[in-house]
Amino acid sequence: MKDPTCKSEERFRAASQRSRELYERGRKVMPGVAKGAYFHRPYPLTMARGEGCYLYDVDGRRYIDFNNHHTSNIVGHNHPAVMQAVRDQMQRGIAFGAPTGVETELAEEMCRRVASVNRIRFCNSGTEATLHAIRLARGFSKRPKIAKFEGAYHGSHDAVEVSVAPPLDKAGPASAPHAVPTAGGMSPHAHEDVIVLPYDDEAAVERLVSQHRDELACVILDPKAGIMAMPQSFVQAVREITRKNDVLLILDEIVAFRVNRGGFQAICGISPDLTTFGKMVGGGFPVGAIGGRAEIMDLFDNTGKPTGFFQSGTFSAHPVTMVAGLATLEQLTDDAFAHLNAMGDRLRRGLAAMFRQQQVTAQIVGVGSLFGIYFTEEPVTNYRVAARSDPSMVSPTFLSLLEQGFFLSKTLCMNGLSLQIGPEHIDSLIEAFRKAVRA
Ligand code: PMP
Repeated sequence: MKDPTCKSEERFRAASQRSRELYERGRKVMPGVAKGAYFHRPYPLTMARGEGCYLYDVDGRRYIDFNNHHTSNIVGHNHPAVMQAVRDQMQRGIAFGAPTGVETELAEEMCRRVASVNRIRFCNSGTEATLHAIRLARGFSKRPKIAKFEGAYHGSHDAVEVSVAPPLDKAGPASAPHAVPTAGGMSPHAHEDVIVLPYDDEAAVERLVSQHRDELACVILDPKAGIMAMPQSFVQAVREITRKNDVLLILDEIVAFRVNRGGFQAICGISPDLTTFGKMVGGGFPVGAIGGRAEIMDLFDNTGKPTGFFQSGTFSAHPVTMVAGLATLEQLTDDAFAHLNAMGDRLRRGLAAMFRQQQVTAQIVGVGSLFGIYFTEEPVTNYRVAARSDPSMVSPTFLSLLEQGFFLSKTLCMNGLSLQIGPEHIDSLIEAFRKAVRA
C-alpha cells in the first residue's frame, strides 16, 4: 500500500498551485516561512480572505475555519461590530503616542469580567505578557526562580522556553522532570532558574514547590484548556499548593480565557495572583495583557516614587487593538458562551462516537469552544502522554480535512470554534473526520 501521507500530499499539491508559488517566493526572503506556526508539510496554504466562519485560499477553495487564527478569533472573520469599531477608530486616526481613552474602556471591561484582576496593563503579545508577569513576580517576591509545567508554552523568551517539548530521552524522571532548554541562542544559564513540574501529579507538584519555596518567585500555569484533559481539581490543587507555600501563581489564560466570561479561573473557582492574556483580547490584532492584584500590579505605577519596574512598548495599548478587543468582548454575552459551549459539546460527543464506531483509537480533549485530537489510547493528562501519541495519523488527517474544506490546527490539537459555527458545520466536520480516518 502506498504511504497515505504521500498520497494526501500529492492531492494537496495538485489543488494548491498558487499557494505553492507564493510559498516558494516567500521563502527566498523569509527563512522557511513568515513564522514557524504557519508551516506544515508540504507547504502552507496562502489564504486570500475570510468571511464569517469561512476562509478562502488563493486557489479559490473555501474552508470552514476551526483554527481561527490559533484560537484568537472567537467571533468569526469580519464580524460587523468589530469591523465597524476598527473603521471608526481608523477615521479618528490610527495611533498618537498618547492615550485615547479606549484603553481604559477595555481595561475596565477586563477587570469587570475577571474577579482576580484589579489592574491591567496591555502589551503586544502573549510573549510580552508572560515576560512582564514573571518580572513582576520576581520583583515582588524578591526570589530568583520560577516553576513551570513540562510541555507548557508561554511564549518565546528565555525565562519560559524551558521544557516546552523536551525529547523524552532528555526529560528525566516523570515526577521530577529535568529543565531542558528549548531554543538555540538562549542564555546558557536560563534553564537553571526554572523548576519543571509535571502536569497531573499533585504529589510531585507539592513536593517540588515546597522543596524550592524559598527561591521560587512564582508558579506559572497554563491550564491547557482544550489542549490536554486538565481536571479542574488539578488547577485548584496548584492554587492551594502555591498559597500554602507562599509562592505567587500566574495563570496563563492566553488561550484559556475564551472558555468563559471570567476566564478558566472562574470555572475552577480560583483566584491567581497574576493572569496573562492575549489572543482574542485584541479582537484579531496583536495583543497581550498582564492583570492581577493591585498590590503587585501597582509596581508598574511610576507616577509617584519610582518603583524600579517598567512596562511600555511603542504599540502597547494600540487604539485599533483596544477597540477591536472591546467590540469582541461585547459580543461575548452569556448567550454567546452558551452557544459556543453547546457547539463544543456537540463536536466532542460526535467525534468520540464516530471514532468509537470506526474503531480508531483517539482522545478528544476540550472545554467550551476549544478542542484537540490525539491518536492515543491514554487520556492526555500530561505532556509525556501527548508526546507518545501516534504522529503518523496527524498529517494525512489534517491534509484530508483540508481537501474536504476544513481548516484545523496542523497538529489537530489546538482548535477553537467561532460564534459563526453552527450545528451543520459541526456535523459536517465529524463526517469529514470519518472519511479522513477511513482513508
Ligand atoms: N501562552 C500560551 C498559553 C500560548 O498558547 C501562547 C501562544 N500560543 C503564548 C503564551 C504566547 O503568545 P504569543 O504567541 O502572542 O506571543
